Amino acid sequence: MIDFHAHLDLYPDPVRIVQEVVSRQMYVLSMTTTPSAWLGTSLIAKPGSRIRTALGLHPQLAHLRIGELVLFDQYLDQTEFVGEIGLDGAPDFKNHWKQQVQVFEHILAACSRSGGKTMSIHSRKAAGAVLNCLSVQPDAGIPILHWFTGSQKELQKAIQMGCWFSVGPAMLKSKKSRELVSQIPRERILTESDGPFAQVGNNNAMPWDVQLATSELASIWQVEESKANALLLSNLRTLVTKK
Ligand code: MN
Repeated sequence: MIDFHAHLDLYPDPVRIVQEVVSRQMYVLSMTTTPSAWLGTSLIAKPGSRIRTALGLHPQLAHLRIGELVLFDQYLDQTEFVGEIGLDGAPDFKNHWKQQVQVFEHILAACSRSGGKTMSIHSRKAAGAVLNCLSVQPDAGIPILHWFTGSQKELQKAIQMGCWFSVGPAMLKSKKSRELVSQIPRERILTESDGPFAQVGNNNAMPWDVQLATSELASIWQVEESKANALLLSNLRTLVTKK
């Protein structure tokens, strides 16, 4: 199982979650929302586990933590993975748009200078702007659009630009999202939980809830669940050997 976008450090008991993830032999990309959280969050992942910790600055926090870009630059060479980054165009965050763009552009330029990273990207109500920023920095690395909710046209553009996508059980509940997902090339998809933010039923999503997304993907692709699992693992292998 693969959870390519989880916030392990934001669960009430991260240590227990990590134990469970390790015993299930899951591959997890653990997000951080601020550069100052990266070191501590990296330490939660046990050495030898299949957990990797991404260095991020969440767009919803960009205006508060713009001063931590110095730390971001300082840590960047120590990781291959960057996230959560991106832009958020929802009404609550639109008034900090200028700072969001400044932070995102800074991060993409830094990733480009450092040889390119694998990046998990937030694009809520901002898919077009995210794609524009990415097209200005084609050497920033491999963009993985997490929980993509853009338009049909934006999806096609993203595919054309080489973006990957991570999809979760909460996202796949929506018919519109399932339709979008059916148009994404299968070899560019990974699963994610976005836990604990995303909900599954009445609960916060757990990393292992990605199995629900895998089974939904199997139904969209009209293949057995074991085949979908194998395809997703092969995608992950391709992605991490891409650079
Ligand atoms: Mn997230």
